[in-house]
Amino acid sequence: MGTYIDVTGDGVGDDGQVGEGAERAARRDQAVRAAVEQGLLGPDTPIVGLLDVTGIRETAAELRAAFDAVTAPGTPVLHAFAVKATPLVPVLRLLRAEGVGAEVASPGELALARAAGVPPAMTVLDSPAKTPAELREALALGIAVNADNPQELERIDGLMRSGVSRSPLGIRVNPQVGAGSIEALSTATATSKFGVALRDEGAREWVVRAYLDRPWLTRLHAHTGSQGVPLSLMARGVAEAYALAEEINRRAGRRRIDTLDIGGGLPVNFASDATTPTYAQYARTLRETVPGLFDGRYGLVTEFGRSLLAKHGTVVARVEYAKSAGGRAVAVTHAGVQVATRTVYAPENWPLRIAAYDAKGRPKEGPAVVQDIAGPACFAGDLLAEGRELPLLEQGDHVAALDTGAYYFAHHYAYNSLVRPGVYGFGPDGAGGVVFAVVRSPQGIEEVVVEAGGAHADALTSGLAP
Ligand SMILES: *Cc1c(COP(=O)(O)O)cnc(C)c1O
Repeated sequence: MGTYIDVTGDGVGDDGQVGEGAERAARRDQAVRAAVEQGLLGPDTPIVGLLDVTGIRETAAELRAAFDAVTAPGTPVLHAFAVKATPLVPVLRLLRAEGVGAEVASPGELALARAAGVPPAMTVLDSPAKTPAELREALALGIAVNADNPQELERIDGLMRSGVSRSPLGIRVNPQVGAGSIEALSTATATSKFGVALRDEGAREWVVRAYLDRPWLTRLHAHTGSQGVPLSLMARGVAEAYALAEEINRRAGRRRIDTLDIGGGLPVNFASDATTPTYAQYARTLRETVPGLFDGRYGLVTEFGRSLLAKHGTVVARVEYAKSAGGRAVAVTHAGVQVATRTVYAPENWPLRIAAYDAKGRPKEGPAVVQDIAGPACFAGDLLAEGRELPLLEQGDHVAALDTGAYYFAHHYAYNSLVRPGVYGFGPDGAGGVVFAVVRSPQGIEEVVVEAGGAHADALTSGLAP
């Protein structure tokens, strides 16, 4: 295993996930070494993102199995991957091959899902700011849409009047069950910007009437949070949505709502290689909290993002320089704010494990030394990790930021015009080695110039001339 700091020091999972975590760590070590040997990483390409295809497949299978184990036979279940977590077309196609669809929240994400071949029947559009054109396109394609608010529902009313759509349609509600430990990712607070706030005066009755008045509204959606929200709180959010669906169906005198979209948000353990909590635990918690959800009367949609991909991504960067400042060892690397934006700006909420590798990509040995792992950007706070105990990093070594498969290197932040690194998927080559496939090519410097208005160099000097 690579050397890393176990942030919480427990390093223990459950449900037999420790063994799976150890295998994942071994695959990662092998991939880092192979990336150096095969020249994906080198002096001129000092940073790459790696995706463990074996691990992604395993996690997708665990997700399916977890819900298969608790649902009545024949219950339609759509697992729609939240594209924002890893917006890469080959990843979406891999998940599609594993029976997982796409949850999209912008025209760009919808285009990615379509480019990956995700069919409309496996695609769900949620977003708090859909334009009329987006709604029209989704309804024309037959993609499921969850209306965020009354104004959006009015727009959908207009579209439904002018033509019938096959799209399954629903309303997103905010059960207002409270926040988790990260305010910015808590979607079920009293004042969250998402959905119809169910406990607000008159809101519940408005939602019920909306369904009673519209036979084409057949789904109900709630996404109660993301990282930092405990399972019990997530389950309470789902329970609130279920109770509302039961009330609507009772008052309608028939099964008006036939599908519950329970969102995503399973938290990820960033502290060790163990997968915890597991999908199986969450599914069991849901069955205990909301047994009626699984008796076959409701189809289900899930929208997991981070928990499907996080543990299968690794960003690996070269140590360009190793220096010392004020008695502190500092490794200046090529991985910083451009690939780990959340961690750099909010390190308390998003600590990442760092693994040290030597110049050949082998796990680095040696006594632990407290050091900072700095990024390449020109501001003092660009630290991937501060004060970590690792074998002393030297020039030409490598560092890996672990568990970065979701919301990290796929979300490039163009600070200092740093290029988007290449992303490679890896798997076994059948002969004990590792084979890589390009998922996203490294960005070229010419592209940086084009994206920075290179074609309009004269715009402000002669372009405005009267
Ligand atoms: C972000 C988001 C998700 C996925 O959340 P994760 O924490 O990545 O699982 C699912 N549904 C909606 C509506 C979202 O906004």
